[in-house]
Amino acid sequence: MIRLVSDVKLFLQALSREFPDVFSPPQPRRLARKACAAGEPALRGEAREKFAERVAHWSGKMGVRANQIRIKDQKSLWGSCSVQGNLNFNWRIIMAPEGIVDYIVIHELAHLLEMNHSPRFWRHVEAWCPDWRTHRGWLRANSGFLRALRYRNMLINK
Ligand SMILES: [Zn+2]
Repeated sequence: MIRLVSDVKLFLQALSREFPDVFSPPQPRRLARKACAAGEPALRGEAREKFAERVAHWSGKMGVRANQIRIKDQKSLWGSCSVQGNLNFNWRIIMAPEGIVDYIVIHELAHLLEMNHSPRFWRHVEAWCPDWRTHRGWLRANSGFLRALRYRNMLINK
């Protein structure tokens, strides 16, 4: 059993050397401080501006037309896209490390070219965001933390 634990530890250490962005991003405590200092309404406003700006930037490059942009607090999604080109983004993404907003925007805009997660879809994403695996890995590793921030935020503010 102890042997297994130390094997797992070594394996994780090797992984973290290979994927530093996934394992040691600017981390939870800093994000929590940012969330607590600014408060949710301010961060939603920041998210609105940032997503609008990045959608304008990437839709031009990718040759797609985005329609309305909404900022939400989806339970299980970071972003979504309708066939009409309406985009929804989760405000919590604004607390993630640099590069993740762009990944989410590129991901949703790529759905205007491919409405699925086929290899063709990922080729569109890869063309504009070669680090997409790192960003997706970070989101998978930290989604619980990002989603829990509201409760932490409320506790600290009270
Ligand atoms: Zn998708």
